Amino acid sequence: MNKKIKNGVTIMTFDSLEKLGVKHCFSTKLGGVSEGVYESMNLGFNRGDSDENVQSNFERIAAALGVDKNCMCLSQQTHTTNVRVMTKEDAGNGIVRPLPYTDVDGMITDVKGMTLVTFYADCVPLYFYDPVKQVIGLSHSGWRGTVGKIGKNTIELMCKTYGCNISDIRCCIGPSICKDCYEVSEDVIEQFEAAFGKELVHESGMVIPSTLHPGEPGKYMLDLWKANETVFLEAGISRENIEITDYCTHCRPELFYSHRIMGAKRGSLAAFLCL
Ligand SMILES: [Zn+2]
Repeated sequence: MNKKIKNGVTIMTFDSLEKLGVKHCFSTKLGGVSEGVYESMNLGFNRGDSDENVQSNFERIAAALGVDKNCMCLSQQTHTTNVRVMTKEDAGNGIVRPLPYTDVDGMITDVKGMTLVTFYADCVPLYFYDPVKQVIGLSHSGWRGTVGKIGKNTIELMCKTYGCNISDIRCCIGPSICKDCYEVSEDVIEQFEAAFGKELVHESGMVIPSTLHPGEPGKYMLDLWKANETVFLEAGISRENIEITDYCTHCRPELFYSHRIMGAKRGSLAAFLCL
């Protein structure tokens, strides 16, 4: 991934999407107007920051990306595996009008000029782009979304709705908590074993005994990047069409908000993708 400053806003971009010329980014904390725990590029409404500041932050990042803020379409994330098809009537959802839906963790569209937006602070952003059919998708994949394979749901809905071919789809895994930072308990691991198969989960290194509390029973490190890559491969995406971030939201507090570090008193990062 590349870190760059545009119009005073620090953003992260993927090499593969950049080469294909698709407008996208993952936000950082830097370049906004919010203060205190929200300093400074908080993109989450309803986190305690003023709506005015959040709207200003959206304006700044829209300018940095070169997209129309009023044509953004926001998710309503509740750790589901629901993916919604967005039409031109959805442009502006969550920005110029209240959201007309709930429980939307993934979105796909073929509407040009509409920017899909999803929100993060350690969970995994998944980006999808079909340069042949000109279709994009963006999905929020925390451990629940990953176990439920929202990445696969997104790809299947792109194929079903727009006739995309699996071999054309590019997938990117964005900044989120890394395998050295993400400790989980046994009950989470059991769900991963059920979803991916016990052997694969342990032999691939997707799950290893805790390195933060070595020797403590029932504690594991979970690699959400590898898990989501596995979901993509299972869905039929070829490895060369998958790009994985090297930025961890927990390792880099100077760049990102991390839920594990800051708890609920923090801003939200966001993923942006636009045809
Ligand atoms: Zn980390």
